[in-house]
Amino acid sequence: MTTPIGRFAPTPSGRMHLGNVFSFLIAWLSAKSRNGQILLRMEDLDTQRTSEEYAQVLREDLQWLGLTWDWESQPQSRRSEAYSRYFDRLRDMDLLYPCYCTRSQLHNVNAPHRSDGTYVYPGTCRHLTQIPQRDPAWRVMVPEKTWSFTDLLQGQYTEDLAADCGDFVVRRADGVYVYQLAVTVDDGESGVTEVVRGVDLLSSAPRQMYLQELFGFAHPQYGHVPLLLAPDGRRLSKRDKDLDLGQLRQHISAPQLIGSLAHTAGLLDRFEPISAAELATEFSWEKLKKDDIYLNAAELVR
Ligand code: GLU
Repeated sequence: MTTPIGRFAPTPSGRMHLGNVFSFLIAWLSAKSRNGQILLRMEDLDTQRTSEEYAQVLREDLQWLGLTWDWESQPQSRRSEAYSRYFDRLRDMDLLYPCYCTRSQLHNVNAPHRSDGTYVYPGTCRHLTQIPQRDPAWRVMVPEKTWSFTDLLQGQYTEDLAADCGDFVVRRADGVYVYQLAVTVDDGESGVTEVVRGVDLLSSAPRQMYLQELFGFAHPQYGHVPLLLAPDGRRLSKRDKDLDLGQLRQHISAPQLIGSLAHTAGLLDRFEPISAAELATEFSWEKLKKDDIYLNAAELVR
């Protein structure tokens, strides 16, 4: 059996919240329970919101949690040359076209909207006759084909990219490569074999699988873990300052935090402080709950 290679792919735009901690914990347990490795990659394509200071705090928080990584790859902000090589390959395959649609045009498109509020791009710019005088974004054409995979937690997931998503942007008008392209190239070049992340990214998987196929990368195994919600159903986010690791670390130890998360998620029958390494010896995907996880942070720090 080949060694599993998992990854942490944080966006260094602030202190981690519990949702981030939870998905990194599961990514780590999944790889380490089978003697695998973990890659750390800073996803800092959005240079306005991200910084090396945040990246440094993130590394320190991961160390505090006992979530070790085996190597760190180059941050995405320094990989545009690599991304442009893959972009050129798509162009050579005649799969790209420039898109001049404005934001408001896109919001008004007379096309079905998906349940997550995003639209299906109707292909407006596929056959343009008049070219506007401004820099275009670039879209990749998607074939009429159904993408299907078995997620480690969510089970079978199927999407027809043409009907459910449409041609999607791979490079923005300002020249920045988008997440879907960057993550596919990075995971592919690093030999990542399993992608464990929040279920909010489940619908990104088919786009990434399509690009993997075009670039000749093997598909990784996907595991999309539940989101953590506050008791009122609000999704935990970096805006909830009370829940970031900076606050939590003042009140509880790493084993207490990991024990609480593991218990709430179904990995432990009862709460007990436990290290990530100890938890790895009894980890299995079967134990993990699939539903959203409600967490009362106030109780955690009591
Ligand atoms: N960088 C993304 C985030 O922080 C995660 C991307 C991924 O895991 O594919 O939400």
